[in-house]
Amino acid sequence: MDNKITGNKTAFYYEQYMNPAMVRLFRLMGLSSVAQEASGCMITDQDGKEYIDCLGGYGVFSLGHRHPRVMEAVTLQLNKMPLSSKILFDESTGQLAAILSTITPGDLQYSFFGNSGAEAVEGALKLARAYTGRKKVIATVNSFHGKTMGALSATGRNLFRDPFEPLLAGFVHVPFGITDAVENVIDTDTAAVIVEPIQGEGGIIVPPDDYLPALRKLCDTYKALLIIDEVQTGLGRTGAMFACDHYGVTPDILTTAKALGGGIMPIGAFTALPEVWQPYIISPFLHTSTFGGNPMACAAAIATITVIIEEGLCQQSTIKGEYLLAGLQRISNDFPGVIREVRGKGLMIGVELCEEGIGGVIMAELINQGVLVAYTLNNPKVIRIEPPLIISFDLIDQVLDAFDTSVEAAYNLLDDL
Ligand code: PLP
Repeated sequence: MDNKITGNKTAFYYEQYMNPAMVRLFRLMGLSSVAQEASGCMITDQDGKEYIDCLGGYGVFSLGHRHPRVMEAVTLQLNKMPLSSKILFDESTGQLAAILSTITPGDLQYSFFGNSGAEAVEGALKLARAYTGRKKVIATVNSFHGKTMGALSATGRNLFRDPFEPLLAGFVHVPFGITDAVENVIDTDTAAVIVEPIQGEGGIIVPPDDYLPALRKLCDTYKALLIIDEVQTGLGRTGAMFACDHYGVTPDILTTAKALGGGIMPIGAFTALPEVWQPYIISPFLHTSTFGGNPMACAAAIATITVIIEEGLCQQSTIKGEYLLAGLQRISNDFPGVIREVRGKGLMIGVELCEEGIGGVIMAELINQGVLVAYTLNNPKVIRIEPPLIISFDLIDQVLDAFDTSVEAAYNLLDDL
């Protein structure tokens, strides 16, 4: 079929059978292509145009697309036993749980596997309530923990919450990054404080260095659990295996997903201290999932963690992140009035614009130049840049060149915007 027809037909299907508003929004951002294939950092559309993937499926493609070692592990498992009966032990599931206990901080030991970030958060919240017998959960304004009912109760953006109220009772939201705000509401009825170590969808917000350690202390004082949501920050994204490692903090429960499946399989997990796991030990079927912990997803995750360690991707994320951040800062200085701030850790970078309207111009020009980025979900003034951790310096230079041209285009239009 003709490429143009393929493209139009897919957009038509989206419009007619999924959501017409979504199609309009994509087109407004200059996106009308259909992805055909992907490899490493590149995605190719139906016309053969190549894009550097700096969105990375919101942090899924830390290893790039179709990493050969993950492909090999998944193919091997596919040919052996893709899904398990669940009644016999599965080798890769057990092995992944053991590996997670060694790479997660402190004494975190037991893991449960689901299929997404939201499921990991659901499980963590349930465990916190079951363990403490308390109802209250403290979360942060502008946080993002997923959109299922429990996770959404923790997510801190009214736009996503309001149509579904009443959500779970007992959730309190306080400003992010301010210890006093938590101190003012935490008490002996508090089951947990749930927090992203760096707010992703909130606009790549890095808290003060003493924030997580202070939350750890407060939780200890009130015997509340600290849940650190590493669904987006985990597995090397910020330059450490987990972002909480930067601050020397061990949570009671840690959630992971996104990059865990190596960009090939969906998988999410929550991992907890042995003491906290007691409710699930007393009643092992209290929390279950049919597809969670399936052999193919676990094989992908084992290969992913192996690659992250053996290819030094945490260190690469730090070095390349500093290089990319410095380049973006130079561009910001060259064209004043366009970018308010460039910030982030490792290869989790946010570019906050002075005005929301500027974003459309920059995004359209970046897409035109073959660089894929997107806004953060809770903050449309912030463009997120989360390329694969395997990205080369040559490709980073291409991304910076594209940003230079795009920001210059916006700068030249400043008076008209
Ligand atoms: N937690 C965090 C920190 C996230 O960034 C996300 C997704 O962006 C989620 C949870 C939800 O993950 P999922 O979309 O896989 O349900």
